[in-house]
Amino acid sequence: MKVRIFTFGCKVNQYESQWLREAFVSRGDEISEEDDFDLALVNTCCVTAKAEKDARILVRRLLREGKMVQITGCIPEKPEGFFLRDYSDAEILRRHKVYSHFPKADRKISSFAGHTRAFVKIEDGCNNRCAYCIVPLVRGPVRTRREKEILGEAAGLVSAGYRELVLTGVNLGSYGAETGTSLSRLLPKLAENPLLKRIRLSSIELPHITPLLLSTLAQIPAFCPSFHIPLQSGSDRILSLMGRSYGAAEFLDTVFRIKDLFPSALFTTDVMVAFPGESDSDIEATCDIIRKVGFFRCHLFPFSPREGTRAYTMPDHIPALRRKERMARVRACAEEVKRRIALKYIGKEHEVLFEQSRNGFQTGFTENYLLTGSTSPLCREGEIVRVRLLSPPSSEQAWFIAEPCV
Ligand code: SF4
Repeated sequence: MKVRIFTFGCKVNQYESQWLREAFVSRGDEISEEDDFDLALVNTCCVTAKAEKDARILVRRLLREGKMVQITGCIPEKPEGFFLRDYSDAEILRRHKVYSHFPKADRKISSFAGHTRAFVKIEDGCNNRCAYCIVPLVRGPVRTRREKEILGEAAGLVSAGYRELVLTGVNLGSYGAETGTSLSRLLPKLAENPLLKRIRLSSIELPHITPLLLSTLAQIPAFCPSFHIPLQSGSDRILSLMGRSYGAAEFLDTVFRIKDLFPSALFTTDVMVAFPGESDSDIEATCDIIRKVGFFRCHLFPFSPREGTRAYTMPDHIPALRRKERMARVRACAEEVKRRIALKYIGKEHEVLFEQSRNGFQTGFTENYLLTGSTSPLCREGEIVRVRLLSPPSSEQAWFIAEPCV
């Protein structure tokens, strides 16, 4: 049978879709990336109302077209299960049934579609209860993947030619929370593989960035100093309403410690705008910390009420028009900071792992995760090349233009 997999949501879902691709192949199916397929597997996300709506629209279209549809991922795990009632023509593949559905499949992935770098999922679930977040309800508590399995998967990917591994999880820093191990124990073991040139963390919550973790990372030459640390808000009042366990001063303090240890560290973040009760001065506090940290990229999300979370029933939801204005305000601030940071990189040398060609450029990321493109024939896919950055991203191209250092 020809199967096409549609993926919504985060890096963990992308990893799981790759596992599903290999699982279908293990039972003799063929994976299609085109329009001719017999079965569509839709790997869904419900972190925002929009992500959920997009998945629903796709499922409805596929059913209208007469395709066989299976739905997996986060939506079928929602407590109310209303999605399942609406789509009785689709088959539901619940997460806890996935392994038994593919009895011949291995527990690990052996490649990662379309990338020179591969994601490795090291944990699932989250023990926190941030007021806005539905993830713990659909992903459950922290489950740490066995070290042996992670190291085996990493070794396989590296010998298949992947030069960069990105460790990923629902709440990555919770790795080992229930088994007594930790990232600080796992990372040096991963780094023992001499063929692995780069190790990256996908996203890590501030409380998990401990002095021990930072000193461990500083001793790993393959560690790439890009730090995606979800901020959500720069206002202590809103952070506390959100149930986040840090304040703005602590956030800044950790960032400055990282900057001391990793002078080339680049910071990116997630920011939630228009949380219930948020005022103009809370938004100003958010802009203030964006400027102080110097985030190169901010993923901005408008607050999206999710049934079953505490924030859903909180008072003082922000009207749509004000939410839009605030999004525009924070976006303008983040863009301004990005431009300022980008200019600092002009003339600087960095190593880039080239990954794919786009619009006549070979593109890839620096060790600190700047997207860079070059037209030089020396910059070939899969190669790590030392380059000099010549000009910043613009409205025409999303990457720094660079040339190899000779
Ligand atoms: S840390 Fe908070 S925002 Fe992140 S997955 Fe857990 S509950 Fe959700």
